[in-house]
Amino acid sequence: MTPAPRWPLHPAPKEGEALSSWLNRVASCYQMDVHELLVHDLGHCQLDELDTAPPPSLLTVLAQRSGVEFERLRSMSLAGWVPWLLDSLDDSVPAALETYAFQCSVLLPKRKARSITRWRAWLPSQPTRRACPLCLHDTANQALLLVWQLPLMLSCPQHGCWLASYWGLPGRYLQWEKDDAAPHPANEAIACMDRRTWQALTTGFVELPRRRIHAGLWFRLLRTLLDELNTPLSHCCSGSASSIRQVWEHCGHPLRAGQSLWRPFEILAPAVQLQMLEAAATAIDLIESKVLSLHGEQATLFLSEPNTGFTNGLTTAEREKEPVNHWQEAVKALNEAVAEARHNPERARSLFALFAFGRRDPESLERLRVMFAKEGIPPEFLSHYIP
Ligand SMILES: [Zn+2]
Repeated sequence: MTPAPRWPLHPAPKEGEALSSWLNRVASCYQMDVHELLVHDLGHCQLDELDTAPPPSLLTVLAQRSGVEFERLRSMSLAGWVPWLLDSLDDSVPAALETYAFQCSVLLPKRKARSITRWRAWLPSQPTRRACPLCLHDTANQALLLVWQLPLMLSCPQHGCWLASYWGLPGRYLQWEKDDAAPHPANEAIACMDRRTWQALTTGFVELPRRRIHAGLWFRLLRTLLDELNTPLSHCCSGSASSIRQVWEHCGHPLRAGQSLWRPFEILAPAVQLQMLEAAATAIDLIESKVLSLHGEQATLFLSEPNTGFTNGLTTAEREKEPVNHWQEAVKALNEAVAEARHNPERARSLFALFAFGRRDPESLERLRVMFAKEGIPPEFLSHYIP
C-alpha cells in the first residue's frame, strides 16, 4: 500500500494539545471543519472519541499525512496517558477507585476503601470548558490543551493565571463567561500544585521536597488528597478532623465545599471540583509549611530531608551504602534526558542548548542535529532553535 500523501500545510502540535484541537487547526488551514477533514480526506466519520481513544488506524494515517509520530499523536488523547494518569479507560474494571485513591494516605491515616461501579479517574461526568485566556490571546492560533478538559489543574503553568470558562469553538468563535475575560493571577499554593502536575504530564516525574517521584504516583497522591478533604468528619479521629477543618478554613470555602453526602470527585459539580482542587493546593502548602499535623504515610514526601547539621546530612541510610559513582550517575542522567527529549520538545531544546554551548558555526550545529536525529529525537522539535 502506498502511504497517504503529506498534507502541504499542517501546524505543529503544541505541547499538551488535544488531538481534536490540533485537527481543528489543521482543518482551518484548508477552510474546513474537523468533520470535513476527517470524512473527505481520511474517510473517518467518528468524532466523539478523538480525545479519549482515537482508533489506531486513524492515528496511522494522520502520522502519514503530517509526519508527526504515531506515539506523539496518541499522547494527544487520554489513551496515551494510560497507565500514568489513569489505570484504564474501561469504566467497568472492578475495584478501580479503591486501587487508585485508597492505597496512599497523606492527611489522614489509611482510610477504609469505598467501592463504586463504573468509575474512571479524573474523567468528569459533566464536560468542562476551561482554558487560559493568555494562551488563547492570539486568536489566529488557538491550541486547546488536553488537560483543560479534566478537573486536574486550576491555573496555567506558563502564565500563572486561573483557567477561565468559555463558550464556543476556539479558532472560530470564542466567548469568555462573564467576568472571566481578564486573567486572574493564581496564588502561589495553586501555582505550585499546577506546576507539579504539568511537570508530571510533560516529563513523567515530579520533584517533591523529599525526592523525585514518578508521575503515576503524583496523580494518585493528588486524587487521594482530594478524597481525604471530602471525607465526612464523623469518619475521622479528632486529630484528622481538625486537619481537614483547618485546610478548609484556610482556603475560605465551606467545609467539604458544602457537600454533605460523599460522592467521588469525578461526579461532583464543576464548581465544587474547583473548590476541592483549591483545598488540595492549600493542604499541600500547609503540609510543606509544617502547619498541619500529619497522619498519612506519604505526607513525608512533601517535607524536605531532616538535616542532622554537624554531619552535613550524609548519615542517611541511602548515602551510607557506597560512595557515589559520579560518572555512572552522569551517564544515567544523560540517558534519561535523551529518552525524555524523544517525546518532549522543551526537553529536546534544553538538551540541544546544553550540547550547542559555545558552538557558533553552522557546520558544527548541523553535525549536532544529525547526532540528535540518530538518537531518535524528532528534528522538528529543534526546527526553531537558534543558539
Ligand atoms: Zn497560559
